[in-house]
Amino acid sequence: MPLKFRLRGLAETFVDNIQCCNCGHDGGDDGDQAFKTEHTRVTYAGIIVVIECEICGHVFVPDNQRRGVINSGKLRNAVEKDSKNTGQPIFQGVDAVKLEVERINAEIGRNIH
Ligand SMILES: [Zn+2]
Repeated sequence: MPLKFRLRGLAETFVDNIQCCNCGHDGGDDGDQAFKTEHTRVTYAGIIVVIECEICGHVFVPDNQRRGVINSGKLRNAVEKDSKNTGQPIFQGVDAVKLEVERINAEIGRNIH
């Protein structure tokens, strides 16, 4: 079952099958069990879905996500406004998010060891 992430009128992203690239967990019968999406980022390039596997704690960006930007001007404004409100840096696109994900994984690794 594909997961759908949507910001009304701005952008939407679909993710088909999710499988953890670390432990192989595939989300069970519903396809999204024991996956968390709280690291998902809204960027200038659309919604970059970030999955956290609750089985092994690995965080990753699924490669099979389909991103659509509906209104790039409004999306840009929303990203900038959100950054101002939360104090979080602006992510330009998927490369920046992947770097962030690497940082999160490195931090998790440090906490375990
Ligand atoms: Zn896993």
